[in-house]
Amino acid sequence: MSFEAIQQKEHAYVMQTYGRTPIAMDHGKGVMCYDVDGKEYIDMTSGIGVNALGFADPAWMAAVTEQLGKLQHISNIYYTTPCIDLAEMVCQKSGMKKMFFGNSGAEANEGVIKAARKYSFMKYGKGRSTIISLQNSFHGRTMASLTATGQDAYHNYFFPFVEGFMFATANDIEDTLGKMTSDVCAIMMEMVQGEGGVVPLDMAYVQAVAAACKEKDILLIVDEVQTGIGRTGSFFAFQQFGIEPDLVSCAKGLGGGLPIGGVLFGEKTETALVAGDHGSTFGGNPVVCAGALEIMKRLDDAFLADVAEKGKFLKEELLKLPHVVSVDGMGLMLGIALDVDAKTVISKCAEEGLLVLSAKTKVRLLPPLVISKQELEKAILVLAKVLKNV
Ligand SMILES: *Cc1c(COP(=O)(O)O)cnc(C)c1O
Repeated sequence: MSFEAIQQKEHAYVMQTYGRTPIAMDHGKGVMCYDVDGKEYIDMTSGIGVNALGFADPAWMAAVTEQLGKLQHISNIYYTTPCIDLAEMVCQKSGMKKMFFGNSGAEANEGVIKAARKYSFMKYGKGRSTIISLQNSFHGRTMASLTATGQDAYHNYFFPFVEGFMFATANDIEDTLGKMTSDVCAIMMEMVQGEGGVVPLDMAYVQAVAAACKEKDILLIVDEVQTGIGRTGSFFAFQQFGIEPDLVSCAKGLGGGLPIGGVLFGEKTETALVAGDHGSTFGGNPVVCAGALEIMKRLDDAFLADVAEKGKFLKEELLKLPHVVSVDGMGLMLGIALDVDAKTVISKCAEEGLLVLSAKTKVRLLPPLVISKQELEKAILVLAKVLKNV
């Protein structure tokens, strides 16, 4: 099928909710992927931070296919070992106490919101259910996670939104502490605002909010859906901020390309939910969890140090390119501010065989965590060529 035929059929039958790039992808291997015409691309998107090990990683595929032939799904009314082993490894790597499995980032955020409200209700009763999130945040597309998303552009059409959400200004300590009043049960934040334009929070801000949370028994929720699972050079980004969150949501990179979301519970919240409070038919699926376990095994200290090192190298090289105003982010989650139009640069990159993302007005890079230095150099050369000619 030609690209034009694919596009026509998509327009005819698929709900038009995405502004797609005019490329139809066919297959991939490692960091490279190929469209239906056989054109090769270096992938610096990893499916928006999902394919941590790139395409078709042999060990991940083996883990997934072996489990597929054993038990592809069984209800959560029975025990299965892949999700239990995965929960153990994620807890050990993060210092969190318990894990709940869902299927996406938005769903993980529904989970943290429910857990925070129940914790507060059981301890303080009604009237202490407000959740603060930050301006410019992104937490997902379901009704509650959309309400929590601190961007006006998302708050249209779908009225009424969920009650009990309030917004504070990121990196403004005074504003945020002032909003932590007696009706508030939790505050939710991304350590680096991803969809908001790759905007990292300040260390002093995060620590001040964390200290106020402890003092007032307001739960600290960290949305690690994009920043988690090695992306920023530590297992979770919050581990670089010297804080201990009460609830953490994760998803994107956790499954290496298969759908999964996770809620992590700290000491305060580890008994917040009981049988019947929350659940998911597909959550903890054994095939997805078997693949995720392979990722956990790979993400040791040396792997994470390598991610941090490659991120530093990439940032330094990007800063040498023409039209680059600044480079923000952590590890292999970087946003490039340009003095030329990012959208033009992104489509020129695709023409030249390099896939990159946007985030607000920036070019965003989220390469597979396994990308080699040589592959990074190749990508930088393409970007340099594009920037020289815009
Ligand atoms: C992508 C993202 C989400 C939503 O995840 P979905 O899997 O698309 O539901 C939530 N929070 C953050 C920080 C994200 O980057």
